[in-house]
Amino acid sequence: MRKIVVAIDGPAGAGKSTIAKLVAGEIGYAYIDTGAMYRSVTWKWLQTGKEFSEEFISELANTMVIEFRPEANVNRVFVDGQEVTSAIRSAEVTANVSRVAAIGPVREAMVAQQRRMGDVGGVLMDGRDIGTVVFPNAELKVFLTATVEERAMRRYKELVAKGEKVELEQLKEDIALRDKQDSERAISPLRQAEDALYLDTSDMSIEQVVAKLKELVQERE
Ligand code: C5P
Repeated sequence: MRKIVVAIDGPAGAGKSTIAKLVAGEIGYAYIDTGAMYRSVTWKWLQTGKEFSEEFISELANTMVIEFRPEANVNRVFVDGQEVTSAIRSAEVTANVSRVAAIGPVREAMVAQQRRMGDVGGVLMDGRDIGTVVFPNAELKVFLTATVEERAMRRYKELVAKGEKVELEQLKEDIALRDKQDSERAISPLRQAEDALYLDTSDMSIEQVVAKLKELVQERE
């Protein structure tokens, strides 16, 4: 049995990280959340209080140290030794991340790290450009998606369960805007790789998607 590279791409809120984390745990693979890396760069820039500048943010991306420390239930994230696990999920980071992720040198810095982390195999990596740019030769590529209504509803339930006050319509708009920015950017836009398996999870439970993915990985190993 050979441990492979699994590339999971798709739009915001499609459940990529939930699914990838569960599958990784069950089959003993590492899970790498590349969205957390772009969020970390965004967080670091917002912390400085400086205006948006491609040069400045690229410099940050090339000098900061992003670290993952996975634990049973949470994938802890650190920037220059400081924990940012929840900070990178804030509404402010979410609203700014697509702008930061569209900067060429920021992507180059992140992609180089992602390749180093994935080269050994035995990883599930999720993002927007994993199957198209980061690992175009990944043994398994999945494009995970769901309707925008379903994705907004899942996010809504998740936030309400955490006791946050949110508007479903607003969530839907935010997700649609992020999809548009991520799909229309010039460098490495979100798109399905030609050889990726398209999986619409709108009518599937988490358990069903996890089982399907495990089956696909085991077929390729
Ligand atoms: O996956 P998540 O929603 O946390 O990603 C946050 C943002 O990071 C995305 O909206 C996108 O702008 C950017 N991203 C990216 N390429 C990746 C992963 C995330 O551009 N591989």
